[in-house]
Amino acid sequence: METVQIKDKRFGVYISSEEIQTKVKALADAINADYANKNPLIIGVLNGSFIFCADLFRELTVPAEVSFIRMASYEGTSSSGNVKQILGLSDNVFKRDIIIVEDIIDSGLTMKNILSHFKERGAKSVEVASLLVKPGSIKNKVEIKYCGFEIPDAFVVGYGLDYDKQGRNLKDIYQLKEE
Ligand code: 5GP
Repeated sequence: METVQIKDKRFGVYISSEEIQTKVKALADAINADYANKNPLIIGVLNGSFIFCADLFRELTVPAEVSFIRMASYEGTSSSGNVKQILGLSDNVFKRDIIIVEDIIDSGLTMKNILSHFKERGAKSVEVASLLVKPGSIKNKVEIKYCGFEIPDAFVVGYGLDYDKQGRNLKDIYQLKEE
């Protein structure tokens, strides 16, 4: 199995870039079907979702718009648990069909906060697209309409996801190897 070293940790390939691209296309097909004749506003959650969001957005055929927010809650390989405020949202979301695009949902706390923010501001609809979900560690129930892969509760990097700021440029997704 192909492995990479990032700083002090070794990671093994877990989801190949081909599998990722096939999944991204399938998620975009579903969004294109659901949002026919609509004008969804895609909101990518930085930094981790920037690659997934870009790939997904290019597969959309509906008249979609894209914007980004930032809301970090994670340091190193374990959740710090405290979610910060939403930064960077300049778009008017009132009566808009919103799709929040995340790289990964772990405890669900980040997404729960984001969802309540958009609902409070009068969005017409708010759905979630997440490339990865860790069902084993979800503590806050969030409905994920467009889910890429359900994965076990192990730390992953690549395709936008980092370990201590590195590894985002890897084309495949890698999983932390236990020593
Ligand atoms: P949650 O609030 O759902 O616990 O955490 C969501 C955020 O934690 C994600 O947007 C991501 O930044 C980070 N995160 C959770 N699990 C992982 C992981 O396995 N790898 C990386 N790189 N980040 C993760």
